[in-house]
Amino acid sequence: MSVPKGRRAVLAGMLALAGAGLGGARPTPETARDLWPGAAEVVRGERSLVVGHRVPPAELRDLAARADRACRTIAEVWGPVRAVVVVPATDEEAALLAGAGRTGGLAALATVDRVVVVPTGYARLSGTGRDVVITHELTHLATGATRGGRVPMWLSEGFADYVGYRDAGIPTRTVAAELAAEVRAGRLPTELPGLADFAPGSPRLAQAYEEAWLACRYVAERFGEKGLVRLYGSDVDSTLGLSRAEFTAAWRDHLRRELG
Ligand SMILES: [Zn+2]
Repeated sequence: MSVPKGRRAVLAGMLALAGAGLGGARPTPETARDLWPGAAEVVRGERSLVVGHRVPPAELRDLAARADRACRTIAEVWGPVRAVVVVPATDEEAALLAGAGRTGGLAALATVDRVVVVPTGYARLSGTGRDVVITHELTHLATGATRGGRVPMWLSEGFADYVGYRDAGIPTRTVAAELAAEVRAGRLPTELPGLADFAPGSPRLAQAYEEAWLACRYVAERFGEKGLVRLYGSDVDSTLGLSRAEFTAAWRDHLRRELG
């Protein structure tokens, strides 16, 4: 299973976040157990809780180990996260639990307080791909994703990918393969990706994620991880001391250096 496929699964995860019911009852680890009365299998990791429906316990233990690793990475960068991972029996059940219309091609979805695994998409991922997806989605849980649109999409998705790929050991050009092909062909994006670029069916969806990821990588390299964390929920001007135009220019230089 190739990494770029893993990326496509990751990037689709955010679509469900937008559609997931914000507000309403917040399931706790205790209520997660009640999702499937009498049929739920619960595995506790060191830092995570995994609830499965007709899923072999070994699979749940594997997920708990991945979620624990993800939590350690997220704690290093951001802070603690209450990791609840739900593994339904079918993709339809996953869509229902995530409040998403459909799950085609996704591996996992984040709602406000849990990660819902999509069995078919998740099964297709490599081990590394699974780690990236789980870390990405749990990062959304930790940060609150776009916080109802107050954090720009490029920062929300770029940050989740920054944490997701931070310890994955995958070369930049591999993670950002689609964007690298464009840059090598002399096509450099002029603006940071906006909301529409992340919309389902957007022709450059993969590139939008890669642009966002590299924007966050650039901030972390120049201003440190703490600078990147400070930027989350703030703005480029006051946090980094750069105008939007200066930031965009620096990001484009970074793309040229990393992918050209
Ligand atoms: Zn995401």
